[in-house]
Amino acid sequence: MDYTLPEFLAHAIALEHEAAERYLELADMMEAHRNDAVSALFRDMVRFSRLHHDSIVERSKGIVLPTLRSWQYRWTQPPEAGGEEAFDSTLDAYSALRYARENELRALDYYASVGQHSSDPEVKRLAGEFAAEETEHVEALEDWLARTPRPSATFDADPDRPGSR
Ligand code: ZN
Repeated sequence: MDYTLPEFLAHAIALEHEAAERYLELADMMEAHRNDAVSALFRDMVRFSRLHHDSIVERSKGIVLPTLRSWQYRWTQPPEAGGEEAFDSTLDAYSALRYARENELRALDYYASVGQHSSDPEVKRLAGEFAAEETEHVEALEDWLARTPRPSATFDADPDRPGSR
């Protein structure tokens, strides 16, 4: 992925916007489940994604950005989610955290790989910075996962990502 700066900025803005939307849904869902602690975590993630989004928009001032197709930045749905947009509203905290972590890892991989493959020094620099930020998100989610009881059946058959902590 040897992106130009405008291409990269457009992807990053879309990705952070998407993350904020999904975290908002997850936060509302956890609130409906009366899981205020996990809801608060997701609200923090909404805030971080929005701050990041806004700072990238700021960085993009004066740059004409390309239009993207949605498959280029959208979160993948968990296997148990029904519709295109909707989460399974019965998603428990553990599954919600795991799902969020998977998508954060995806964002991390994305930024890291752009950072590695780009020939534009500014793209490289920004991608490295964003990857470091995603690493923090992944770690925050992993901390919570470690403290959250695993539901009985749902995920037992689902092998953990190799190399995950
Ligand atoms: Zn993130």
